Order: sequence, then C-alpha cells, then structure tokens
Amino acid sequence: MKINAIETVRIPPFENLLWIRIETDEGVTGLGESSKAPQTVETYIHEWCAPRLIGTDPLRIPERRASLEAYLGWGAAGVETRAASAVDIALWDIVGKAQGRPVADALGGRARDEIRTYNTCAGSGYMRKAIGQRSSNYALDMTGDYEDLDAFLNRADELAHSLLEEGVTGMKIWPFDTAAERTGGRDISPEELARALEPFEKIRGAVGDRMDIMVEFHSLWSLPMAKRLARILAEYDTYWHEDPFRLDNPADVADYAAHCESWVCVSETLSSIHHFREMLATGAVGVAMFDLGWCGGFTDAKKIATLAEAWKVPCAPHDCTGPVGYAAGSQLAMHIPNALIMESVRAFYKGWYNDLVTGLPIVKNGMLSIPEAPGHGVELLPDVLKRDGVMVRRST
Ligand SMILES: [Mg+2]
Repeated sequence: MKINAIETVRIPPFENLLWIRIETDEGVTGLGESSKAPQTVETYIHEWCAPRLIGTDPLRIPERRASLEAYLGWGAAGVETRAASAVDIALWDIVGKAQGRPVADALGGRARDEIRTYNTCAGSGYMRKAIGQRSSNYALDMTGDYEDLDAFLNRADELAHSLLEEGVTGMKIWPFDTAAERTGGRDISPEELARALEPFEKIRGAVGDRMDIMVEFHSLWSLPMAKRLARILAEYDTYWHEDPFRLDNPADVADYAAHCESWVCVSETLSSIHHFREMLATGAVGVAMFDLGWCGGFTDAKKIATLAEAWKVPCAPHDCTGPVGYAAGSQLAMHIPNALIMESVRAFYKGWYNDLVTGLPIVKNGMLSIPEAPGHGVELLPDVLKRDGVMVRRST
C-alpha cells in the first residue's frame, strides 16, 4: 500500500479545526484531525509532511513518524507536533481499515468494551472561534438543547440532575476563569469567589456525592492563588483539578499537590513522553490527560499511557475539540489498561459533531463504547466537502 494524496479540510464556522485525509493507492482513506491555528498546521502538512509521506507505505507508522521528525518543534504541542498528530490519527485509521477492525483492536486488543464518561459542561458554540481560550469565546448566546456552560454558571443544581438522569455521574466545570481573566490569575474578590463557589454549593446541595466534579482552571492562575483555591475547594470533595497554572515546571505541580486534596490532572496542554516523564517523576500526578490531536496521535498517546502506567497513574483522554479527536481518544481508552474515564461533551456529540461526521462513539447510561466499524469509525459526511466556504487543499 502506498500513500498517493493528502488533503486538508477546513470547514466554517469551525475556525479552530483542521481535518486531514490520507488517500492510498488501494482506495483506503484515513481521516485525522488537529485543532488550533488550523491554517498554519495545514501549511506545515503540505510543505513538510506531504513530500515525506506521498509514495510511502502508510502501514509502517514508526517509519512514517520518524520521517516527519523536525529539527525544531519537538517535545511540545506546537505546529510540527499537531501536524504529526493529525497524520498519525489518519495512518492508524488506515491500519484499522486495512485490517478490517477498530483501531482499539489494531493497537493490540482491548482492555475493555466500555468506559465511564464524564460531561464537560460546554455549550454548543464553546470555543468555536479562533480567538483563544477565553470567556469571550463561551458563546453563551447559543440556543441549543445542551447549553451546559450557561447551566453550570447559573443552574448547576438542575444541570447535575439532568446529567444524572442520563446516567452521567461526572461533570467538568470552570467557574473561576472570569476572575482569573480580570486579575491575570493573581487575585479574586470576595464577590467573585462567592459566585465561583455557587455551582459547587448547588451541585452538592442538589445531588450530594452522586456527582463527581472535575475542576478545570485552564492554566490561568498564579501558584499562590491556585493553592489558595485548592484549600477553599477541599470542602466540596472535588474529583480532580486540571491545569491550575501553566504546567511549565514539575516542581510547581508537586508544590500544588501538597496543598490539594483532589487529584492533580496534568493535562492535554502537554505533549510527548519527555514532558510527561518529568511530570510523573514528581509523584504528584493524579491523572494523566492527553489529546490525540495535540500529543502525537495514537502512537505518542499510547507511549504516554504506558509511561503513566509505570508510575501507577491512570489516564483520561481529552475531548472538547473535534469529532475525530473524540473518536481517537475513545479507541485508545478501550486499549490502554490504565484508562480511568473518557471525556465527552454532550453539547457536541449530540449536536454539531453530527453535522460533520458519522460513526461517533456511543454514550449510553454514562458509559462510552466504540462502533465496530474498521478504523476509528468516524467519516466526514459525504456532502461536507461540497459545502459553501469549505477549504480543501490537496498534495499529490
Ligand atoms: Mg483541560
């Protein structure tokens, strides 16, 4: 089998997402995805990756990945790694399809057939624009059926009930972000603190300990403030604390963990076994999270998971980006022995993901499973490429 063409696809209004289609001479096509600065990643794919991939065997993934290795940009989730991530996901999709089985099986077989999922409480338009991870990108004016961001900010008790009715027993929320934006993460006013704690009060008041609460801080806080918030949150028995500050120094994570009773989740902002090795060596990591579209695809995510296993740390693949990343993380979660839980966003998988793709993972009664289709299961809808404004670039 040989790669004979590489196509990238950008689809408005999803300003952060990039898809890649790798075509082969045997008619098998692999679909990959990455996000953030998609036009830049697209350029890199056509400029650097395509000449090294076209004419080569897509099934020899370690060799393909080695050929993409750049002199710069290694070790981080920068453009080079995000491009390689999208390629890697597409290559594994081809491997699965060539073998006629799901990627979870092609990776070496399954540790399980289903996994618990938690709901990331984003709304339907969350982070759709290319303006960054900020509250102005919350899209609180959307009117979908699952505007869970507005709900956690204002009606967290009702939201917790609504999720429990679906069998979902974990929810991720980020009520501290606007205060961090105002103060640069250096302080919080008593009013802001009271407002940020409201969802925790409401959830515990409404459903007690039947709901696990994952707290997302989006790397926004100073270390002293992060530790203060961790102490304040202790009474709510939160499940994990994710990205309390920028994860640029493992010693900070160890310091924070000493002040935090919840698991520290280090996170999809990291990439590569090298960063995770340093973090895991602190002994302070509670949960290892990675996004397959950012960390190097199936190949690197599996290595990170194995490394975490050596430190007795469980893994939680990331979603909240796009449908292929979601499917890829779900496939991996069936394969790695130390998967804890899989992220999902009901506003996405019941909403706009279905406007773009078929073959999504299946969520039922709080448990997620994968379709039995070969590959990662997800395909762009046939009409997507013909839609107005869709940008397709092709290298042959
Ligand atoms: Mg996160």
